[in-house]
Order: sequence, then structure tokens, then C-alpha cells
Amino acid sequence: MTGIPAIVMAATFGALVGSFLNVCIYRLPLGTSIVWPGSACPHCGRALAWFENIPIVSYLALRGRCRSCGATISPRYPAIEALTAAMFALGWWYYGPGVLLASRLVLGCALIVLFEIDREHQLLPHAITLPGILVGFLFSFFTEPGWQSSLLGILIGGGTLLAVGYTYYWLRHEEGLGMGDFKMLAMIGAFLGWPLTLVTLMMASFVGSIVGVFLIAANRGGMKSALPFGTFLAVGALAAATVGPSVLQWYLSSW
Ligand SMILES: [Zn+2]
Repeated sequence: MTGIPAIVMAATFGALVGSFLNVCIYRLPLGTSIVWPGSACPHCGRALAWFENIPIVSYLALRGRCRSCGATISPRYPAIEALTAAMFALGWWYYGPGVLLASRLVLGCALIVLFEIDREHQLLPHAITLPGILVGFLFSFFTEPGWQSSLLGILIGGGTLLAVGYTYYWLRHEEGLGMGDFKMLAMIGAFLGWPLTLVTLMMASFVGSIVGVFLIAANRGGMKSALPFGTFLAVGALAAATVGPSVLQWYLSSW
């Protein structure tokens, strides 16, 4: 299937996957099972009927409220579903069907979950990052960036932030930047290979310092109250996976 129908199919499938990502975002920090039981209202605990579980549509039909207790449903649910739908549609259009598309979408889903959990809880669950490193490495035998670059990406990505974390701990005697993030960058390295891992780190630091400076200027507190670094790594990896190769080419040719 090609053209518009294929992109609509990809978006629909993406919205369903987004629905599952919502379950992961809600349940992983609680440490409960992501497969059982089915979805329920977090407020009154009533199990949701199938027609309350349709991505995006149900939220709009219910006007963002639980049908029994009237509690507000977080707009995060339709937002994550719409974002995942858009990612699948754009991914299909940009990469075309194939192993590379599958690899990029798996990474994208992991990044969406990590971004949102880190933003809400300042937490990057091992249940995502550690299997992510393995899955990214396995994909690299069949598509970009190749297993050697993937392996170096794991070592350089993880190693750089681990070194930053230990240095910070040694200087300040408290856990800071890097300690939870090194497994996430190792995962990104496994999927994107070592050159794009460096682009990811560069982009994340760049966006992170702009937001940090903005928050300090707006007198909203120092770096401590800024968004956690994992959210910037997710944005950096998205940039690296799309415009990264052109950025690298421009950088290398300007030498
Ligand atoms: Zn309810």
C-alpha cells in the first residue's frame, strides 16, 4: 500500500501504540504490570469499556471527563496518542517501509515514554533503557548504523555521561547530571551509532543551556529546578535522527 491510505493506516496504528505508551507512562513509575489489568479510571477505579479506550476520539467524546465520577482525564492521554500517530505517519513518509523505519519507531516510542516519565517524575526506568540498548544493538545488524558504530555508540554515549556524573559527584558530593542519564544515551547510541550520539549530546546540551538561561533570566530558579536532562536527550535524539546527518556533513565540510 502506498500514498495517502498507507499514511492514514500508519497514523491509526500509531494512535493505538500511543495508547499503550500512555499505559507505560502511568504504570512504570508505580511499578505495576503494563499488561494486566485493563485500563481503569485512576480516580474511581472503574474499568473502562472498549468505547472509552479509543485513542483521541474517546477523550473528545467524553469531553475529558470520566463517565462515572466526572474526574478530569489528563490531556496527556490524547496528546501522547496524537504525537505517536504523527510520528508513525511522518516516519512512514520519511523512511518508507523497512527495517530502518521499524528501528526508528521503536526508538521514538522509547523516547516518548522516557521524556514524559522524566518530566513528571525525574526518573528514567531501567525497564526501558536496558532492553532498549539490547534491541538497538540487535537492529544494527540489519540496518543503519551497523553493529560496530552501534557498539561504539553504546560505549561512547554511556561512557561520556557516566564520566560527567562521576566528576560531578566527586566535586559536589551529590548526585547530579548524568547519573541516571548515561543508560539513556547508551540506548540512543545503540540505535543511532556513535557519530549521531555525539550530535544528540551536543543538541541536548545546547537546548538545555538555552532553557536553563531562560529560566534563570525569568527568575524561576537555577539549573536544579530546570527540566531534567533526559527530556533534552529525547529532543536531541529526535533532532539527530532527522537532521543529524546534514549537520554532521556541514560540520565536517567546514573544516
Ligand atoms: Zn472515574
